[in-house]
Order: sequence, then structure tokens, then C-alpha cells
Amino acid sequence: MPTESLYPKVDIPNVDLWTFLFERNDRPFPDDKIIYKDADTSRCYTYAQVKSTAIDFGKGLKSQWEWKKGDVLGLFTPNCIDTPAIIWGTHWAGGIVSPANPGYTADELAFQLKDSGAVALATQKTFLKVAVEAAKKAGISEDRIILIGDERDESFNFKHFTSIRPLSGTQRYRRTKLNPEEDLAFLVYSSGTTGHPKGVMLCHRNIVSNILMLKAGEGGNVTWNGGPDGKGDSILAFLPFYHIYGLTCLIHQSLYSGLTLVVMPKFEIERFCSIIQNQKITFAYVVPPVVLLLGKHPIVDKYDLSSLRMLNSGAAPLTQELVEAVYKRLKVPIKQGYGLSETSPTTHTQPWDQWNKTIGSVGTLLPNQTAKYMSPEEKELPIGETGELWIKGPNIFKGYHNNPEGTKNALTPDGYFKTGDVGHQDKDGNFYITDRVKELIKYKGFQVPPAELEGLLISHPMVNDIAVVGIYNKDQATEVPRAYIVPAPGVEGSPKSAQEIMQWLQAKVANHKRLRGGVRFVDEIPKSASGKILRRLLKVRAQEEEEKG
Ligand code: AMP
Repeated sequence: MPTESLYPKVDIPNVDLWTFLFERNDRPFPDDKIIYKDADTSRCYTYAQVKSTAIDFGKGLKSQWEWKKGDVLGLFTPNCIDTPAIIWGTHWAGGIVSPANPGYTADELAFQLKDSGAVALATQKTFLKVAVEAAKKAGISEDRIILIGDERDESFNFKHFTSIRPLSGTQRYRRTKLNPEEDLAFLVYSSGTTGHPKGVMLCHRNIVSNILMLKAGEGGNVTWNGGPDGKGDSILAFLPFYHIYGLTCLIHQSLYSGLTLVVMPKFEIERFCSIIQNQKITFAYVVPPVVLLLGKHPIVDKYDLSSLRMLNSGAAPLTQELVEAVYKRLKVPIKQGYGLSETSPTTHTQPWDQWNKTIGSVGTLLPNQTAKYMSPEEKELPIGETGELWIKGPNIFKGYHNNPEGTKNALTPDGYFKTGDVGHQDKDGNFYITDRVKELIKYKGFQVPPAELEGLLISHPMVNDIAVVGIYNKDQATEVPRAYIVPAPGVEGSPKSAQEIMQWLQAKVANHKRLRGGVRFVDEIPKSASGKILRRLLKVRAQEEEEKG
């Protein structure tokens, strides 16, 4: 029997995100509540300013660019307080937002722009060079590149987004009507269980559901149980808005709950600590490598972090040792959550007041969802046994964009999503994620799709065959990618050739995809009779290599 969530069902209104966030009757905070604040400049947006800026931008899109329902805007920027208004302005005009990692190379960005069918791109001045090159490759004209942030561009006159507003004062523009169950809010990119990154289609209802499910599961909607309450609490937002974790848990939740987000463009431990100290931050959403730094980095002792009430960790496994190290040092509890791009994202979380009851668990299944555990033969396992986690609920994505094959492999006809993660649940309904059956590697919470690196590396003249797997690096509390390479005939598998290959790859991929786990030369790549790489054998081998040192 599948497991139902232990929570009572939450009512999910059939509305799009705009209606949900900006036209609600039960908003518990005023118009002038500061929602987004730039950590460096203190520039702010109140709730009312986010709304009016988004409407101006949305009207500008319709008026200047004849924006149509379903048009896609690419977003290529580190965290910036203008991002939320850009997102909701695009939604106002009926568009879809596809955020990309600003560390991408022009080829990586061009892939996403082309695949998503983006017709415009928003970026910041520092990222213009890559943005322009990628837009050109994707067929987006330069006048469809706009800037956000504080810097303007005098030399090329790229427009700032604030100048995208209605051209004539006489014409009336109306918000585009959307079908929350069908129309997409976001196209985020994930490799899923296998292969290259794919556009994850998230409709408005997916996101609305997940905000309400998460609030109920964390305890926020029921009775206040220690989580951020939108009155005195502020959240330090360094998690990237271009990843689903930052996008929904930070951007959307804050506006729904009325919390102030202090926005940090890039994580750096000393800056993180100084902002917490100076702005009296009370909550932060983090990833395990940040938990590691908070537990062990000497710089942390220089700052007063006593305003911090709690942390939420997600995106990758968190060990009990790290939770205890931080609690011992800072007396700050850490709860854990779990989810995926395809689940909008959060499916499980520990309630704020339960963090120390089940350390190591990702929490209980959020409301409105059903889960089951499956054997490798796709037979349902009894509750308590370890298997692949399959989940069903209103937060499950609509499929992969233009990829019926990928969609068919990920979603069952009766609506279950195959997560590719392995785990079990205890008798009280606490879930534990213990392994993955999918190829994915996660470096500090960022996806590294092995197939993408393998596809590039196989074209290197020194490489005859290749497989990339992840190995866990305890010192950094993250997986790192390692390449196993069969050298081309006549090529010596030496440290020098390994170095050469790593450097060659470095120029072609974003920083997080570098081969930090190194290169190992082998005689052959283990494969099944059908030619599939037997990654599990290589992972065992990698772990043995690690243990030998
Ligand atoms: P993404 O789509 O980039 O959010 O990646 C989703 C994947 O991150 C999941 O399928 C898991 O493999 C991993 N993940 C997310 N949260 C956790 C967690 N708390 N513990 C273990 N793995 C996690």
C-alpha cells in the first residue's frame, strides 16, 4: 500500500501565482512591509513596490515587445532583488521564466535558451559578454537583452528593465488570463534520472500547491511552532534564485509569508557571518557544505551569530555529525528538507520543532502527497523496506519540455514521479534518503549530469572511452565528479595527461562541473551487455580508492 501524508489535506485554490500572491484577501502583513533587501546596498522592495514594478514590467512587455502568452524569458543572473519583479512581471504578461546559472559558459546558456525557446534574456552588466554570445547562438536579438541590478550599460545601450514599460499612456493593458493547471510558470533545468539537462515544466498550480504544502508541513499555517513568522524574522537569501530551492523556498515563500529576505548575490562565509551579525538575521536556508563551514570554519568564531534561530538544509544529504557540530558550536538547530526540481521542489521536511527528534531524516511527507517504494524491478515494496521513492501529488511537474521519451520514463500513467532516489521510512513516517539509482552527481547542491561531461570528454583526442561518477568528499561535505578514462591508443595515462584533460574541460563548463574528483585511467569502462555504463561498480571502485588515500 502506498503511504499517504500524515497531514490533513490542504485546500489548494485553483489560481495562478499572481492571484495567489497579489490578489489574496488574507494577507497578514501590510503593503509597506519590506520583502527584499539588498545585503550590500540596502536597496529594498516593499510588497507594494514588488507588485507595481512587476505590473509596469508586464505592461512594458506587452506594449514594447508584443509579449504573448507562453513566451519564455531567460534569466541569467546571480541573486538580485530585481529578480522577483522580473519574474512576476513576466507572469503578469502570461510568460514563462527559465532561470539559468550565471556561471554557465556561452554554450551552456545557449543550450538552455534554445531548448526552452526563450525569446528574451534578462541579465546583469557583468554577465553581458556571455549573455550576448549565447543569445546570438540561440537566435535572440540584442534588443531583447535587458539589464537588471544597479549597473547600467553606457557603451552598448542595453536597456534596463525599468525602461520596459508601456509606451503609450492611452492604451490599456490587461493581465493575461492563465489556466493554473496547464500554463507554465517556470522551465527549470534538471538532468532527471539520466542524460542531459531537460526543461522541467512547472505550472502555476505546482508552485501554489508547494507553498501551501510546505507551510502546513513546517507548521507555519497551523500553529506557530518555531519557524519564521513574518513579523520579526528575516532570512538570509544566498541560495541561488535560479535553482528551484532558492526560487520557491525563498522568492515565493517570502512574499506569501511577509518575511524580509536579505539578498546576497554569492556565498562567502565571512560575508555570510557578518550579514547575520549586522542585520540580526534569524533564519537561513542552506546546503550541507555551508553547514560544514558553520560547524568547522575558524572565521565563524569572530562573529556574533546569536540572532540566528534556525537553519533549513536541503538539496543534498546532511549527516548527523554536521548537525551536531553546528548545534554544539552555535546552539543553532538545523532541520532538513528534501525535494527535486520536478516536485516544485519540497516533498518532505522536518517540522521546525522536530529537528532533534529524527536527525538524519528528511522529515515526513508533506500534505496532499502519496509515496511508495519500488524494487529495481518496479514492484512495490512493503513500508519500511528500502527502495526507489515514487511520489504523487499536485506539486509533480507536467513533464519534460519537448521530451516525450524523458517524460514517459519519469512519470507513470497513474501520476507517480520516479525520483531516482533510494530510501525508506520508519514506523512514525519519517523518511530517510540513503542512495540514488540515477546518474546525477550533486556538487554543493548543484547538478552535475555525468552524461553531459561524458559527451564533451569523449571528443577529446586523448580519450577513447569515458565514464563520470560522483564520490563523496567528507572534507567538503559534497560529492565531486571523477572521470574514469580509457586513453586513446598511444596515449600514456599519466598525471600530465590527466591535468591536460581537466584543464581542457574547465574552459567548456561552469565551475561546479569541474572534475574535482580527478581523473583515473583504466583499461576499460565496465558496461552491461546492452552497453550501459555500470556506474555502481565504478562508484565502489572510487570509494575504495578514496579509502586507500
Ligand atoms: P534538484 O532537482 O537539483 O533539486 O536535485 C534533486 C536531487 O537532490 C534529489 O533527487 C536528491 O538526489 C538530492 N537531494 C535533495 N535534497 C536532499 C536531501 N535532503 N538529502 C539527500 N539528497 C537530497
